[in-house]
Amino acid sequence: MTISFLENAPLASLNSFGVMASAARLVTLDDSADVLEAIDASAAHGPRLILGGGTNLLFTADFEGTILRIQTTGRRILDERADGVLVEAEAGEPWDPFVQWTLAQGLCGLENLSLIPGSAGASPIQNIGAYGVEMRESFAGLTAIDLSSGAAREFAPEDCGLDYRDSLFRHPDGLRWLIVRVRFRLSREPRLRLDYGDLRAELERAGCDMPTPTDVASAVSAIRRRRLPDPAVLGNAGSFFKNPVVAKAQAQALCARYPGLACWPVQDGVKLSAAWMIERCGWKGAREGDAGVHAEHALVLVNHGHASGAQLLALAMRIRASVMDLFGVLLEPEPRII
Ligand SMILES: Cc1cc2nc3c(=O)[nH]c(=O)nc-3n(C[C@H](O)[C@H](O)[C@H](O)COP(=O)(O)OP(=O)(O)OC[C@H]3O[C@@H](n4cnc5c(N)ncnc54)[C@H](O)[C@@H]3O)c2cc1C
Repeated sequence: MTISFLENAPLASLNSFGVMASAARLVTLDDSADVLEAIDASAAHGPRLILGGGTNLLFTADFEGTILRIQTTGRRILDERADGVLVEAEAGEPWDPFVQWTLAQGLCGLENLSLIPGSAGASPIQNIGAYGVEMRESFAGLTAIDLSSGAAREFAPEDCGLDYRDSLFRHPDGLRWLIVRVRFRLSREPRLRLDYGDLRAELERAGCDMPTPTDVASAVSAIRRRRLPDPAVLGNAGSFFKNPVVAKAQAQALCARYPGLACWPVQDGVKLSAAWMIERCGWKGAREGDAGVHAEHALVLVNHGHASGAQLLALAMRIRASVMDLFGVLLEPEPRII
C-alpha cells in the first residue's frame, strides 16, 4: 500500500470559500499510478468526492465518505499536425500555470482563460469560460476512470456533453468519472479574440497595437486581478450563479420592462445577466453575518470570515427566491453544493 488516508481531515484550506468542514477520510494523489489503488481502497467507505483545487464547490456539511484529492502534475506535447498541436495535462496540473506553459510553447487558444483558478482536470466539468472563450473550443478529449469499476475510458469531446458551464460530469450519470488527463488542440497561428468586455481597451492602455497571445493573457490577468476578489484574502468561488438562458419571448418581455437588463442571444434562447438581476433586487454588497455578496460583483458570494457553508447556501437561496419573485427567472448555482 503506497497511499495513506487521513481520517477526519479538515477542509477549510482545501476550498476557496474557506468554510470549515471535514471529511471522514481524505487521500491526496500526486501520482496517477496510485489512482486505481485509492479507488479500490475507498470502495467500501461510503460516498466519494473528487477534489481538485476546491475553487468551485461549497461544503454545507462534513463529508461522510472519502475525498480523492487530485494533485497529479505533468504536461506535454503529444503531436503536431497541420490542424494544430495536441497537448495534454495531468488532472491535478494547476490551470493557470498550464495555460502559461502552452503560451511559452508558442501555442494559442487558451490565453483568454488565463488566471482561472483550479486544476486542468476540472476544466471540462463546467466547461470553464472567460473573456468570450470556452475551453470546449480547443478541447480535444480526456481520459477518465470509472469509480465504480476502475475501468479507464477515453472520451472524445462529443462524448462529454459540454455546454455553457455544464457537462456530463456535473450530472448524476457523470459523477462516477474521475478525470485523470485532459487534452487540447492548440494552434501556432494566433486567432485572437479581443471583443469581450474591456479586453481591447486594456491592451490599448498597455500600448499593445499588435497584441500577441501572451499580451492577451497578461491583459486578461491584469483585469481579473483588479476586478475579482482573491480567495486567499476573501473566500469565494467566483460567480455563484450561471447566467440563465430563457425563451426569446420571455427575454423580450423582460428587456421591455427592464431596459438596463443585459442579454445575449444564444443558440437555444437568450442569456440574461444574473448579476444585473441580483443587483436590481438590492443584494450587491449585502451581508448576513459573515456570508455576503461582494460589493463590486453581485454574482460573487463571499465569506467575510467564519460563515458556514450552510449560511452561504441560505443566502444564495434567498437571492434566488427574490430574483424569481421579481423577474420570474430561476438562477442555477455554478459551484457544486456538497
Ligand atoms: C476567484 C475565482 C474566479 C473564477 N473565475 C472563473 C471563470 O472566469 N470561469 C469559470 O468557468 N470558472 C471560474 N471559477 C470557478 C473555478 O475556478 C473553475 O470551475 C475551476 O475549473 C474549478 O477547478 P477546481 O480544480 O478548483 O475544481 P473543484 O472545485 O475541486 O471541483 C469542482 C467540481 O469538479 C469535480 N472535479 C474536480 N476535479 C475532478 C477530476 N479530476 N475528475 C472528476 N471530477 C473532478 C469536483 O468533484 C467538483 O464537482 C472561478 C473561481 C474563483 C474562486
